[in-house]
Amino acid sequence: MVGGVNYPFWERNITWIAWLELTLGPSPVYVSPMTTSCIFCRIVGGEVPAEVVAREPEVVAFLDVQPLADGHVLIVPRAHVAAVEELEPAAAAALFQTVLRLAGPVREALGAAGTTIGINNGAATGQTIPHVHVHIVPRWPDDGAGSIHTIFPRRTRRPLGEVAAAIRRVVG
Ligand code: AMP
Ligand code: ZN
Repeated sequence: MVGGVNYPFWERNITWIAWLELTLGPSPVYVSPMTTSCIFCRIVGGEVPAEVVAREPEVVAFLDVQPLADGHVLIVPRAHVAAVEELEPAAAAALFQTVLRLAGPVREALGAAGTTIGINNGAATGQTIPHVHVHIVPRWPDDGAGSIHTIFPRRTRRPLGEVAAAIRRVVG
């Protein structure tokens, strides 16, 4: 009991579990209380049903529940990471290896002509689930969708050289 409220075990021990996760890293085996509000962690943990198409040691792939096209697949790392920049190198490699492994089969299974592969990285880009996920969307010549170029209004203001120099300074 805390302040007259009977909190469940995991909420009473959240500080201890947070410390454990910071110390040991997120467990691939259990879905921790830090991440149970994440729908993709719950799919990875088998707590929420999904049409899983591949399960790998570090990665799970399943159908998007609101597909943009038949065969729209999401590929997620098992470990909860919100943004691409936060992925461990091994997790990033495993994620992209699964993209490589699935792109052909998804295309073949749906008889598609190609696939659009993309990541919304950050809330400002339209990412609605803050757990990194790669979209693979099958495409056909007359499917009415555009290329990734069509989502940008091309409001550029700075010369290429200046922009490249700014990026190079940060990359080092
Ligand atoms: P994004 O906008 O890049 O964050 O994409 C999130 C995607 O997750 C959307 O396309 C949703 O349709 C999809 N999605 C949300 N909840 C589920 C779920 N329970 N199972 C499968 N896909 C989901
Ligand atoms: Zn998650």
